[in-house]
Amino acid sequence: MMKPIYLDNQATTPLAPEVFDAMLPWLKDNFGNPHSPHVIGRRAAAAVEVARDQVAGLLPKNGRVIFTGSATEAINLAFGSARTMAGQGRDQIAVIDTEHAAVRDTALWYGTQGFDSRLLPVGRDGLVDLEELASCLGSKTALVGAMLVNNEIGVIQPVEQITDMAHRAGALMLCDAVQGFGRVDIPQHADLIALSGHKIYGPKGIGALWVRDGIDLPPLIHGGGQEQGIRSGTLSPALCAGLGVAAQICAERHQQDKTHIAGLATRAQSLFGDWTVNGSLHQRYAGNLNIRRDGLDIARLMSDVRGVAFSAGSACASGSGRPSHVLAALGLEPAQIKSSIRLGFGRYNSIEEVEQAAQLINQAAENQLS
Ligand code: PLP
Repeated sequence: MMKPIYLDNQATTPLAPEVFDAMLPWLKDNFGNPHSPHVIGRRAAAAVEVARDQVAGLLPKNGRVIFTGSATEAINLAFGSARTMAGQGRDQIAVIDTEHAAVRDTALWYGTQGFDSRLLPVGRDGLVDLEELASCLGSKTALVGAMLVNNEIGVIQPVEQITDMAHRAGALMLCDAVQGFGRVDIPQHADLIALSGHKIYGPKGIGALWVRDGIDLPPLIHGGGQEQGIRSGTLSPALCAGLGVAAQICAERHQQDKTHIAGLATRAQSLFGDWTVNGSLHQRYAGNLNIRRDGLDIARLMSDVRGVAFSAGSACASGSGRPSHVLAALGLEPAQIKSSIRLGFGRYNSIEEVEQAAQLINQAAENQLS
């Protein structure tokens, strides 16, 4: 069977070869525990610190990087700041309705624990309604959560503006930067920034939380006191090294990757002219194209087009069969949601792959609609 064309780079990305090479030594001879004081442990600890600096290199200067097992864990850790703020009489949490489940469901869970959790609406373009945000913020707001790039529709939220509004209300700002880290400008004024290894051609099973200096975070995982007492558990030097090198390569290849992905996106847009783009056409990350064609049955389309790995929403939502809460928040009808697909372009895709995928998808769509 031919290898499918991989156009699902928002779900996960292939491991960069340089990342694989950087991880190997820490899986073979250099097996030390980075928390051991002897020479073998210290060598592993040094690798972890090099990786920390590489990740920090893409983040604001006035904070620290805490390694976690995933971005989901980083986000859950960040939410602990709301508990600290509750001690100061602030018990409201506000997040955008189109956030990834890692933020949205965590906010809703806090809503069951005595917090007043609000979901901020978006417009048809997927951008947060800033007037609603302004009317929601007040002296009770503890934490505001906004994603940098939406994982389903690629829309880039005005995080700096949201942060400014949150700060004026005295609240903390969490940015889920998972789909933007290493690819689009990182907001410089947020208090907490979450990122993930496997979306930047790094390994799965590692993420990080950047925490602005002076922010008080209670631990989420208790134990040996690793990661500055905030996240106990033995770190994997291999995973840390992988994430570090993945971040460094993103920095080094930034312009090259950006130009390449913009080229793929432009070609794709011309080939999917009969489809409608979901979300803003202008405020978006080029590597994400979420499009719909009325009347299509996407489940059937996906089973007809086995040669292309693409998605009908986020990986989690597709797996569960739940209709996308993101497309619903945009005001799309259920039938429009069910006729939407997401194509995700990445560093290792070629123009030929995009052309071939478009041909296969468009042909299958025509067969269905004729
Ligand atoms: N936030 C966004 C926007 C995502 O796209 C994802 C993964 O799909 C996550 C959070 C969760 O990341 P992880 O898989 O590292 O837990």
